[in-house]
Amino acid sequence: MEVKFLGVRGSTATPGSEFSDFGGNTSCTEVIHNKFQVILDAGTGFKDVKIRKDVPVLILFSHFHFDHIQGLPFCRDLLSPDRPIYFSSALVSKEELKGILGSCFSPHYFPIELVENLTHIQYLEFDEAAKIIKSNCEVNSINLRHPGGASGYKFETNNGTFCYLLDHEYDDDSAPEIIHSTKNSDFVIWDGMFTSEELSMRKGWGHSSISQGSEFLDNTNAKKMGISHHSPYRDDKDMMVLEKGITNKNLFLAREGQIIKI
Ligand SMILES: [Zn+2]
Ligand SMILES: [Zn+2]
Repeated sequence: MEVKFLGVRGSTATPGSEFSDFGGNTSCTEVIHNKFQVILDAGTGFKDVKIRKDVPVLILFSHFHFDHIQGLPFCRDLLSPDRPIYFSSALVSKEELKGILGSCFSPHYFPIELVENLTHIQYLEFDEAAKIIKSNCEVNSINLRHPGGASGYKFETNNGTFCYLLDHEYDDDSAPEIIHSTKNSDFVIWDGMFTSEELSMRKGWGHSSISQGSEFLDNTNAKKMGISHHSPYRDDKDMMVLEKGITNKNLFLAREGQIIKI
């Protein structure tokens, strides 16, 4: 199993050369496996996803804030209706998922009725979606603390475990459950949108800090952690200052295009 970062920016895309090293696309992550393809969230990084034709393809949504769905209609491969593609989210039922995407991508906000046009999409309950890859990978959801709710995901194969934890506000109340759910993972993607200083002024905004990630990494005994959902106000220079300050050798700031082998 491999994990590829296709969009590492939080909240809004950041075009411009000053963001090009870390990348400006919003949340999108690919789980690469020879028996399936899973895409986690469809932020602007989703535009360039190559949908595979040789394996089942599942798009899993953590939640529906704009930075996690904005790229959905712009992936060319998604618009080629030559085979079914599965959509699911542990946060809502399949009817709710269809309704949410239908209202977000309808003429008030988008030129065409997207859901009505993408007739090859099959909407699944999360437990139905999990069954599609179950013979090769166990996938479970993890409740995250975020305004409106969000679902993280845990993937377990014979080769290792990967946890996706965007978007999440880490706190003492939710810590024991999430530490338990992710214990001994090989790789974790963490929401590190804020610095500790910024976080103190943004309680309730639904995001965590890089130093909380480092603390969590130790508590959950994970092997490696990639910080994602970078603040859109932080250009490459700012990111590199933060990068230099990281002392935990198992923690890194994710860059668009980066691939982690598990
Ligand atoms: Zn987000
Ligand atoms: Zn969010």
